[in-house]
Amino acid sequence: MLDWLIIGGGVHGVHVAARLLGEGGVEPERVCILDPAQELLARWRACTSTTGMTHLRSAAVHHLDVHPWSLKRFAGNRKSPTPGLFARPYDRPSLALFDAHCDRVVSKFGLDRLHARGHAEQVHVGRDGVTVRVAGVEPSALQAHRVVLALGAGEQPRWPAWAPREHARVQHVFTPNFSGWPEPHERDVAVVGGGISAGQIALKLAARGHTAHLVSRHPLRAHQFDSDSGWLGPKHMGRFSREQSLDRRRDMIAQARHRGSVPPDVKRELRRAMARGEVVWHEAHVETALTSPDLLSLRMSTGREVEVSRVLLATGFSSERPGGALVQGLVDSTKLPCAACGYPIVDESLCWHPRVHVTGPLAELELGPISRNIAGARRAGDRLVRVAREAAPGRARSAS
Ligand SMILES: Cc1cc2nc3c(=O)[nH]c(=O)nc-3n(C[C@H](O)[C@H](O)[C@H](O)COP(=O)(O)OP(=O)(O)OC[C@H]3O[C@@H](n4cnc5c(N)ncnc54)[C@H](O)[C@@H]3O)c2cc1C
Repeated sequence: MLDWLIIGGGVHGVHVAARLLGEGGVEPERVCILDPAQELLARWRACTSTTGMTHLRSAAVHHLDVHPWSLKRFAGNRKSPTPGLFARPYDRPSLALFDAHCDRVVSKFGLDRLHARGHAEQVHVGRDGVTVRVAGVEPSALQAHRVVLALGAGEQPRWPAWAPREHARVQHVFTPNFSGWPEPHERDVAVVGGGISAGQIALKLAARGHTAHLVSRHPLRAHQFDSDSGWLGPKHMGRFSREQSLDRRRDMIAQARHRGSVPPDVKRELRRAMARGEVVWHEAHVETALTSPDLLSLRMSTGREVEVSRVLLATGFSSERPGGALVQGLVDSTKLPCAACGYPIVDESLCWHPRVHVTGPLAELELGPISRNIAGARRAGDRLVRVAREAAPGRARSAS
């Protein structure tokens, strides 16, 4: 039986594994990362490469290794680092540097060898441990003293109600295996969404010679980060942690997130592209989409109609609790506590049950608005390292 089974091999799952091995004193043969992709971090790499982003939105201390300065050291801690490795402000690493550093973390801790390729279908918590039924891997069940649900929201792109689901020319940019890029001769393309990914995709299309119609329900909102940096420490988190009402915590998260915002540099680039006519701004919501095999006609709330050859949805991820039937089955069978918003009620150890821990969006009511981000993975890592250090496997065995 494993000590730790981490379900999900994305940013969160990989970082938690690195921390358990690097700081928690857990032996590698006692850990498994279960994820259906061929490679760890596949969703991260697919989503980030689709957007065309050159640099992360977050600062260089937010990465997947144990030591906060690891990424800086990896880049070669010189006074004048290679141009382009970091962007101002806040030393935001280039995507290439961040990804190379992720590779380094994976190889340093031998995480590839701990990766079981499969999809968890059911989690059963028993007296002696947790059994996870798996599709796509042999053996078809894995057993562990503890599981960490690191499922992310990557499997649930937000799909607006008006957008036809079965039309090849309408695609969500974060759908696995996204293949919606226009052919060179297709001129007008709609990009729907008002956030950083929508902006970056519009710019990518413009750079390839297309006219990008950027459709956003609100004006361009500029924020450096997707929540105020005060949420990284006690400035805002003190108040959040003292708040006993989970409904009010949910409201605080909703208010803190700068959803649909772009950093100032992306805003500037968009303004320039708009001035050149490469990006056309539509502040509206789409009411209907009329489709024919080659063309889509979008009718906006402003009354305007736009004809495009493709619609690329850059509308982010659904705010529903991640994990779908897997998590619902676990909630029902183990009677796990959920807040009114459906999200787990966990303690400071991110413990939903003595044998079930969470990270990422599932830890949001404990870790606050940064929970989904790399910084949230690091906070979860802090807490789970403490659990690992305190809980010898023998103690975990008698946890239920
Ligand atoms: C384009 C983009 C740019 C971003 N840039 C930044 C940034 O600069 N800084 C920052 O802090 N954050 C950023 N984020 C936010 C966040 O860090 C990422 O979304 C990150 O990928 C979230 O990691 P995750 O592990 O929670 O989820 P994911 O990357 O989605 O990984 C979860 C994994 O779990 C697997 N999984 C799900 N269900 C199961 C199951 N039942 N069984 C087995 N495996 C399962 C999935 O297949 C997936 O591989 C960005 C997000 C996006 C989309």
